[in-house]
Amino acid sequence: MATDPTPRPLLAAELLSVGAEITFGETLDTNAGEIARSLVAAGVRVGRVTALPDDLEVVAGAFRDALSRADLVVSTGGLGPTPDDLTREAIAHVLGETPAVDPALLAWLEGLWARRGLPFPAANVKQAWVIPSAQPLPNPNGTAPGWFVDAGDGRVIVALPGPPREMRPMWSDEAWPRLRARGVGRGLVVRTLRLSGIGESQVADLLGEELLRATNPVVATYARHEAVDVRISAFDEPADEGRPARSAAELADAAEAAVLAQVGDHVWARGTTSWAEAIDAALASRGLTLATLETGTQGALATLLAETTRRRRAEIVEPAEPEGPAPEDEAVAPTMDPPVEPVDGDPLAAAALGLRARAGVDVALAARARPRGRDMVLRVAIATDRGVRMATRAVFLSGSQGRHRAGIAAALVLLRLLEAEAAEAAGPAVRPAV
Ligand code: AMP
Ligand code: MG
Repeated sequence: MATDPTPRPLLAAELLSVGAEITFGETLDTNAGEIARSLVAAGVRVGRVTALPDDLEVVAGAFRDALSRADLVVSTGGLGPTPDDLTREAIAHVLGETPAVDPALLAWLEGLWARRGLPFPAANVKQAWVIPSAQPLPNPNGTAPGWFVDAGDGRVIVALPGPPREMRPMWSDEAWPRLRARGVGRGLVVRTLRLSGIGESQVADLLGEELLRATNPVVATYARHEAVDVRISAFDEPADEGRPARSAAELADAAEAAVLAQVGDHVWARGTTSWAEAIDAALASRGLTLATLETGTQGALATLLAETTRRRRAEIVEPAEPEGPAPEDEAVAPTMDPPVEPVDGDPLAAAALGLRARAGVDVALAARARPRGRDMVLRVAIATDRGVRMATRAVFLSGSQGRHRAGIAAALVLLRLLEAEAAEAAGPAVRPAV
């Protein structure tokens, strides 16, 4: 028994999810994800998440292996009263300790049955077990107390029950304060850059292996529904062999500068900003309202911007017959075409102007998507008080994926135009006083 634990910062964790219901695929392991999120948010590196069957040797082996790599091992499940619930036995085995009934826990358990006028089942006695290195964690929502175990050398095991409604409060109210008192995690900075108009693999190519393989900061790309996200996470790094300590913020700043140098043109937002929020913010900064009209997208843009507060109208016009393919020679330009004033007969530009008048808004966007081979071509016209501007974009894939991407392409054209107009409106740095 180690009553005076070696001070050891808990920086690296592994999670074990015990129960055949998980390895059978019958229960989705939500516990590990929840615990991982709270550990990562506190600056703990989670090295592995493992699901295990109800097998004493397998579970004991997993605890032993995890303890050989991590400072903290958190398990959920296997604390029930039945013979297949073996987490306590596994921990006792790994630490070479023998479980014994804790009289206070037994009295509490017996009381639960006595309150209902029922005889106490012998099977539940093992829920009153502890080992010398474990403190029981109370469970006000069930019969399975958890364990907070001093696993030697400053390492910690936390064993929590499987049912999420028991696990969650025990984790936050009982385990977390004890971990805090031991010193868990370190300074962490996380930044997310949201990119569009570029594929994940192209982002990875541009960022390069060195950046993407580094362990602090970690730079990773994620292809998400609304964006390719580049996530930068950095931990405080202590001084080491003559190298001065570096803060998480310093490390994140350097990585962010490197990312922006490669793919900065594609960044449209940060953090968890949605398209609706980004467009709303750009409109709100100048007090503008918006209307949209789209063809060939089944309302993808309207859906993408569903949560905007500054849109006054969203029209979806689908032709009676499917649209023919876009002309092969239609130029696909990465930049916004120059203003068209007056509009010489371009029907999309005329549609944007008509919509602006009809809806009584400041900014009207008309978009038309057409197939080209297995991909799509999107034309966008945006009418503002400065006239109409147009852009043409190639969109990868067709069908629902292509339509969704067309919606994003249209939103990106709109956002860039609003940004450009805002920059023009801000004008030269020195302005006459008014
Ligand atoms: P146990 O502590 O092994 O008796 O767990 C009992 C119940 O908790 C299981 O039948 C599942 O419904 C639930 N459970 C166990 N592990 C998990 C997990 N990792 N994620 C979500 N639910 C779980
Ligand atoms: Mg179980």
